[in-house]
Amino acid sequence: MGLDDREALSTVRAAVDPKRGGSDVVGRFYARWFATDPSVRDLFPPDLAAQRNSFCQALFWVLGEFVDQRAEEPVAFLAQLGRDHRKYGVTQQHYATLHDALLATLHEHLGDRWDARIAEATTHAVDLIVGVMRGAADREQTPPYVDGTVVEHLRVTRDVSVVRLQLDQPLAYHAGQYVAVQVPQWPRRWRHLSPSMPADTSGAIEFHVRSVSGGMVSTAIVNQTTPGDRWRLSNPHGGMHVSRSDGDVLMVAGSTGLAPLRALVMNLCREAENPRVHLFFGGRYPCDLYDLRTLWEIAATNPWLSVTPVSEYSTDPPWAADYPDVRPPRGLHVRQTGLLPDVVTSYGNWGDRQILLCGGPKMVAATKAALITKGAPPERIQHDPLPY
Ligand SMILES: Cc1cc2nc3c(=O)[nH]c(=O)nc-3n(C[C@H](O)[C@H](O)[C@H](O)COP(=O)(O)OP(=O)(O)OC[C@H]3O[C@@H](n4cnc5c(N)ncnc54)[C@H](O)[C@@H]3O)c2cc1C
Repeated sequence: MGLDDREALSTVRAAVDPKRGGSDVVGRFYARWFATDPSVRDLFPPDLAAQRNSFCQALFWVLGEFVDQRAEEPVAFLAQLGRDHRKYGVTQQHYATLHDALLATLHEHLGDRWDARIAEATTHAVDLIVGVMRGAADREQTPPYVDGTVVEHLRVTRDVSVVRLQLDQPLAYHAGQYVAVQVPQWPRRWRHLSPSMPADTSGAIEFHVRSVSGGMVSTAIVNQTTPGDRWRLSNPHGGMHVSRSDGDVLMVAGSTGLAPLRALVMNLCREAENPRVHLFFGGRYPCDLYDLRTLWEIAATNPWLSVTPVSEYSTDPPWAADYPDVRPPRGLHVRQTGLLPDVVTSYGNWGDRQILLCGGPKMVAATKAALITKGAPPERIQHDPLPY
């Protein structure tokens, strides 16, 4: 039976259900793996909570697909995971110890329920999961990561930096995608960042980073990045895109969520004819709208682009007096005051548009919910994965 045994697979899946303690089981798996293969421990950050939760979610989803007898999507996902894990330095030998540690942990956890059927289903599922990751990692010819040197760091507001790098070799990505980044201030703490410009054949790349309150890596980037720092970038992920044949476009960017949408807009500039794009760019204060001038410059020569600045408060706080002046010359829509979900939906439900949302998880979730409530079709709304 093995992978055909849906009942046995459901039992295995329940063991890693994030809502029923699955994360603890995954935690025990990591502890076992590190104990049996100490060379693995140094590949992961000291605090494993985020890694444990992600792996638990991924295992739960993959096993759910196996229960439903679907293989195509989980195999593609696992192959991508395997290719991506090369950036951590995971070797073929590590996959062997991972396989044994995962199987042993599930065996131990399932205890009395571990009979011949469960054993067969678990073994086949773990064989497939590890085999696909290992095979994809082995076959991949592209480098596991690309290094680059910071050439410029602009502190454009109190909490936002624009960081420009020269990569040792160009990185191929589609505008709208994101990459995992490791900075020298926090080795092994990879964070996702979205390039704010389309891929460049000379290896130039730019990121916009906002330091989040209490955030480890983002605050280090904003406060400590200096030219000469060496960053490491993984291969790209994500599928936010503009289809030329799918009608006009609504983009909603909160703070540095502008980055991938700006890259998409810049990419569109390469063509003479484009769908109409309406971009709402929001921040807390007017002074937070750090890149309005670039948007103004693009809109000034590309009539298909309209930009509406939005700020939560109508005036700047006193401490913004020393900031660079981010106000563009006249030409954009009048700045609106309010929260992005309210302002955007005050214009209608945008149901005839391709809708792309990017920004903090709360803003994206709230804007999506507001648009759907107004009648926008959920399948027309794109955004990057949200943390759970
Ligand atoms: C697909 C994707 C693309 C991203 N692109 C960018 C980008 O281009 N520019 C950019 O600045 N950030 C981007 N992020 C967010 C970035 O990856 C980090 O999550 C963020 O910088 C916080 O990392 P940290 O180490 O400072 O915080 P952590 O130490 O990981 O977290 C500290 C606290 O901050 C909270 N937190 C984490 N992320 C956010 C957030 N975005 N907004 C509000 N609170 C948060 C956490 O819940 C936690 O409570 C992206 C995230 C994803 C998933």
